[in-house]
Amino acid sequence: MLLPATPAALRRAAAALRRGEPVGFPTETVYGLGANALDPAAVRRIFEAKGRPDDNPLIVHVTGLPMLRRLVLEVPAEVRALAARFWPGPLTIVLSKRRSVPDVVTAGLPTVAVRIPDHPVALALIEAAGVPIAAPSANRSGRPSPTRAAHVARDFPGLLVLDGGPARHGLESTVVALGDPPRVLRLGAVPVEELSRVLPGLVVATKARARAESPGMKHRHYAPARPLVLYRRSRAAALREALEADPRALLLCADADAPLFPGRSPVRLGGEPDEIAHRLFDALRTERRGSLLLAYAVEKRGLLRAVMDRLERAATRIV
Ligand code: AMP
Ligand code: MG
Repeated sequence: MLLPATPAALRRAAAALRRGEPVGFPTETVYGLGANALDPAAVRRIFEAKGRPDDNPLIVHVTGLPMLRRLVLEVPAEVRALAARFWPGPLTIVLSKRRSVPDVVTAGLPTVAVRIPDHPVALALIEAAGVPIAAPSANRSGRPSPTRAAHVARDFPGLLVLDGGPARHGLESTVVALGDPPRVLRLGAVPVEELSRVLPGLVVATKARARAESPGMKHRHYAPARPLVLYRRSRAAALREALEADPRALLLCADADAPLFPGRSPVRLGGEPDEIAHRLFDALRTERRGSLLLAYAVEKRGLLRAVMDRLERAATRIV
């Protein structure tokens, strides 16, 4: 059930959360499927609804540092520096958890991933519920993340969903673990270059290391309803051949690259990096008819590095 995010709808959603029911809500990254983070039974319902593997921990959303302090053993100095620069916003920080955070939220890890979302509806919902909200993206496990309320309603008929319009970033948060060196466990809406300014020596965890430290990274993600073949930027000729061989294949590419593939109207990813990030999941959910999706890689730079991470993980095959 889609409800415009009015004060009355917010009260209703907050009451549902307090009763242990899941609620769909907007954030600035993508739509979330939320539950009271302190109620293990409520959190279990999120895993069941999504079909999410139980070794994939959830991000806990809070309104501010006072609520955060109730979840973690300590707030290191780096967190204060990161908070000043990036919160509220699309940065998730992994910290040592208190015992009050149920194991189901963190998939048994001794750490909890937290962030302050930059969306008035998300903040008002947490405030009204009076509890931190554990929320993964509001899609069935393995599917592209939802950037609009209608995507959520399609994946979860009957779910109470607050409609706050299309998500501003359209890409999930960047997940970072502190330490020596600090590590990016998942690329996301805050580019690594920006994060490095506050966390000198920051490294991007290798795929193997990210999988070990952030178990969610090992699962298949973002898969569109039909096969997706991703072509590297050096393989434009191979992509042209594949398009010629299959007139029903759908081309997915950035606007600037469209002239490389004349005669095909692509599923457009857009021009500037933030537009490309914003349109990516919508593009993967395209309802245009076609046999399969053939995507042309974007450059791995700034925000586009996160876009490529999503495309690589969505791909059935990489050429
Ligand atoms: P999603 O909820 O789909 O946006 O995914 C959450 C991401 O955060 C996944 O990649 C998880 O592996 C990661 N994550 C959540 N909690 C932790 C944690 N305690 N330690 C490391 N990574 C985490
Ligand atoms: Mg997700």
